[in-house]
Amino acid sequence: IQRFYDEKCKGSKAIFEEAKEYIPGGVQHNLAFNKPFPLCFDKAEGAYLYDRDGNAYIDFLQAGGPTILGSNYGPVREAAIELLRDCGPVTGLLHEAELLIAKEIHKHMPNVEMFRMLGSGTESVMAAMRIARIASKKKHIIKIGGAYHGWSDQVVYGLKIPGSRALLESHGIPGKMFSLVDEVKPNDLTMLEDMLKKNKARGGTAGVIVEPVGPESGTRPVARDYNRGVRELCDKYGALMIFDEVVTGFRVALGGAQAYFDVAPDLTIFGKIVAGGYPAAGGVGGKRQYASIMAAGLGNAGHRAYVGGTLAANPLSALAGYTAIKEIERTNACEIAGRAGDRLADGLKMLLDKYGLPYVAYNQGSIVHLECTGAMSFDFSSFSFVKSAVGLLAHKKMMYERKDSMERMGAAYMANGIVTLAGSRLYTSLADTDEVIDEALNRFENVFKHVVKT
Ligand code: PMP
Repeated sequence: IQRFYDEKCKGSKAIFEEAKEYIPGGVQHNLAFNKPFPLCFDKAEGAYLYDRDGNAYIDFLQAGGPTILGSNYGPVREAAIELLRDCGPVTGLLHEAELLIAKEIHKHMPNVEMFRMLGSGTESVMAAMRIARIASKKKHIIKIGGAYHGWSDQVVYGLKIPGSRALLESHGIPGKMFSLVDEVKPNDLTMLEDMLKKNKARGGTAGVIVEPVGPESGTRPVARDYNRGVRELCDKYGALMIFDEVVTGFRVALGGAQAYFDVAPDLTIFGKIVAGGYPAAGGVGGKRQYASIMAAGLGNAGHRAYVGGTLAANPLSALAGYTAIKEIERTNACEIAGRAGDRLADGLKMLLDKYGLPYVAYNQGSIVHLECTGAMSFDFSSFSFVKSAVGLLAHKKMMYERKDSMERMGAAYMANGIVTLAGSRLYTSLADTDEVIDEALNRFENVFKHVVKT
């Protein structure tokens, strides 16, 4: 592995070394995918990514989820190019693509009677919380421990739920920002009801926000009837039910998790696939009486949930999203990617059994999890990032915390030609044929063979 990074990734390394001078951390995006150092990618096509040095990788990161049609998908790209030729990426004024995407979403998600496109999932969560507070005239938002709803001040912290994010993702946020956001444990409807009761005496609950497949994209999966239970409790206590479908929208089904679980949320948050892999991927929608609050006060009566963004709903993203959703429908991408996810998860389970590794593999359709169930050792002592991060490197075999272990495994997968999300999550796409998945499983086996158990 070390040899791979040292010898085969010289072009990436040179760029990173210079980038460290100009970019905090040396990359503009998430550091977790970039150990021991980030590789630099120049080319993407279908199931494959190609780095600066010409190495090919099977892509299970999928940019974090947006590219369910495969990377650099032709029909979306062509629609984007045509639009760029005609009007460029943005005018700041209405474009028909905005209407097309709103209608298309409504067609697949009848609960989303109105839709407003925004710049990211993070912003869309902020908008949904505002709308819920105005609509309900209540104060608190309840979220599920370990769930990720972006990096805005109110929701970036979380209960430490095993297998999910840490207690505090960021410093620099005054404690007061969290005072109207409560957390409950996943799958625990009793705890949720207790919190709803508690909040009655202190301003009430405006909304309950859930990732419908469970916290951290289903790293902690929900019980099948959990979402229905949340819906009932929201109705009982007069709170809006908010589905964060940033990951699940147009992935678990065209109709999202709300179709899959047959539960009607009041508000839905979008991201990722909603812009077809193009930037400014976000949006919030829902029942007319709620979504229209974003336009209230503009000559209408009522309080307004102000939302904005110079590049929100730019025609490029709106058209790319619209074209992607049409293509997902035409190609049956959710089901095909879901079957690829089944094949990948089944194959991984077999390999984990074969090598007796303390990992578990499971999937919700095209969302595949590969989670470490215990600390494990891996002969990574020659990795320079390990040397700087951990002070214990006299030993060749070492025990690492789960996260470190997953990230190191991620680096090992990378060196064997597989890109994952931090070593623990894999998204499959329409481009993942049986041949691609089988090739990926061979590459995983190459890694698993060399894991040193303690
Ligand atoms: N909600 C969920 C469930 C997410 O997974 C993410 C991003 N991974 C977000 C919100 C935030 O979206 P964005 O990165 O577009 O701000």
